[in-house]
Amino acid sequence: MAGQMRIVVTGAAGFLGSHLSDRLLAEGHEVVAVDNLITGHVRNIAHLMGNRAFRFLHHDVTEYIYLDGPVDAVLHFASPASPIDYLQIPIQTLKVGALGTHKALGLSRAKKARFLLASTSEVYGDPLVHPQPESYWGNVNPVGPSGCYDEAKRFAEAMTVAYRNFHGVETRIVRIFNTYGPRMRANDGRIVPSFISQALAGEPLTVFGDGSQTRSFCFVSDLVDGIYRLLLSDQADPCNIGNPSEMTVMQFAETIRRLTGTASTIVHKPLPVDDPRQRRPDITLAKAKLGWEPKVGLEEGLRATIDYFRALRG
Ligand code: NAD
Repeated sequence: MAGQMRIVVTGAAGFLGSHLSDRLLAEGHEVVAVDNLITGHVRNIAHLMGNRAFRFLHHDVTEYIYLDGPVDAVLHFASPASPIDYLQIPIQTLKVGALGTHKALGLSRAKKARFLLASTSEVYGDPLVHPQPESYWGNVNPVGPSGCYDEAKRFAEAMTVAYRNFHGVETRIVRIFNTYGPRMRANDGRIVPSFISQALAGEPLTVFGDGSQTRSFCFVSDLVDGIYRLLLSDQADPCNIGNPSEMTVMQFAETIRRLTGTASTIVHKPLPVDDPRQRRPDITLAKAKLGWEPKVGLEEGLRATIDYFRALRG
């Protein structure tokens, strides 16, 4: 794959899809953005609307996707991604993972385009192996609160592999670990926007449990770089992209307090059901096959994210 491509990005009005679209346009490609705005927002792509290489289609990808002209790649990012969202819209979440992936694969097949699935570290569930390599099959509760998301993504991976094996579609699967940055929604319930918004409002930071559970955080530009490399590579098997540096939720809360200079205190609430104790990517494969590793340090990434949320508050 080389030269200028025409690339369909589903979920392009969302957090990751919009940053991905920025990068693809910057690389000289054409982007057809498809989104039904269920959890995304046009403000994330408003700056691209005048760009002749960018086109926006307001469309639900669980319905048939019809597009004129050639397509070189389909990047399937449409899916609610935060627990608050997928608990409110579990059926749409299952549908976009299943039917949406099927339609996006169908488009790839019809256009002889390469297909890249945005999968997730949630396919590993509450992992019994730490850190998680791609060879780990996961420990997922299908009927737990995040079953609708985790199983939709596991189904999406299986469907992607079936299209590869049965129809010969060139496929890529990225397993994305916790990523943060500008354009996340302040109230989407994920830890980074939650802590930053609480800190900026001077409200207590809500830590679930005692805060000894660990998380790792990847800045969005690093993630997008890994995904772009994966798209251009010949790596067909799933590939983790994320930041392996791990910290406890308490340490993270303290970092946010320090960087925002807030006087906010910390309050503890009961741990949600099936909250993973630990989550950290093993990125050996991405390093070896894509020559990729994260470059943006946590403080640098958080400062950019805090600036974004400060500007939103006006
Ligand atoms: P997001 O909610 O900001 O973006 C998702 C986008 O998909 C939204 O714009 C939404 O309107 C759109 N969408 C949802 N259902 C649709 C449908 N049926 N038809 C058309 N558009 C639809 O979430 P995000 O954080 O940008 O996540 C993007 C993708 O990356 C998702 O597939 C998610 O599962 C995956 N992912 C994200 C993370 C992360 O840390 N952000 C981690 C793992 C995986």
